Amino acid sequence: MNWLKRARHGIKTWKKKNLPDGLWEKCPSCGEILYVKELNRQMSVCPKCDYHFKIGAYDFIRLITDDNSFIETEAGLYSGDPLDFKDSKKYKNRVKDAIKKTGMNSAIITGTATIEGKYTALGIIDFSFLGGSMGSVVGEKIARVANAAIEKRISLILISASGGARMQESILSLMQMAKTSAAISRVSRAGLPFISILTNPTTGGVAASFAFQGDVILAEPKALVGFAGPRVIRETVGEELPEGFQRSEFLIEHGMIDMIVSRRDVKNVLGFLLDSLTCGAAASSEEKSQKNERTNISLIR
Ligand SMILES: [Zn+2]
Repeated sequence: MNWLKRARHGIKTWKKKNLPDGLWEKCPSCGEILYVKELNRQMSVCPKCDYHFKIGAYDFIRLITDDNSFIETEAGLYSGDPLDFKDSKKYKNRVKDAIKKTGMNSAIITGTATIEGKYTALGIIDFSFLGGSMGSVVGEKIARVANAAIEKRISLILISASGGARMQESILSLMQMAKTSAAISRVSRAGLPFISILTNPTTGGVAASFAFQGDVILAEPKALVGFAGPRVIRETVGEELPEGFQRSEFLIEHGMIDMIVSRRDVKNVLGFLLDSLTCGAAASSEEKSQKNERTNISLIR
């Protein structure tokens, strides 16, 4: 029951000041007050209305990969400031703050892992790092993880949550659209599957490049997916937009995506897709090579 109905029925609603920080979270979709620990147990999905809260890249990795199978790559790459850009704040400082806030060096985490036993290359964008925007480092890491997929003859999965291009890198940021598209095209030419997962929100340059180039495109329920935001489109075309415009449910009706998958099922679905798309062939030998790789890493350390 939302707050308006509660008020009509004379039911008192908790005010925000009654909620101790970090213990409770209000669902932005249905208004339900949720206990954060319980919400975490539910994979950050609202038990009342199935709203999918944003989760971080490492949370997603824990959600879909087999235990201790993820090996991160290119973790040390971080953005430079080639244009010496400054708006209300220096870009250099924005990046520094984002690194401090998130504990990550860039907006994307890449690596390899097994998912239900299938060895795969993986990249996950984290919205909490400068809105998941695609600058040179995000583009470079996508290109490198695509190359790793080709080199190891494994499939590629990219999970997006992004506001689009990194404005502070200007044209260099826009060039990442061509660069990531070319990388996906190489994966395709190598005969390897690419699965794209769109989460809330996937917009701008990310939606206009690799995110929509998946052999299979999955989306989380009710995710906002599109190039320009609804407000910009409404103002440009001067018309009211249909209900649910640019949400996953609208997109699947219009043939833009293949499947809407709840976070609760995504690991199983990925396992099934990887098995179907690779005929389950390469998994066992690749798993061995991954184990060797892990051994080598621990020896180096
Ligand atoms: Zn809800």
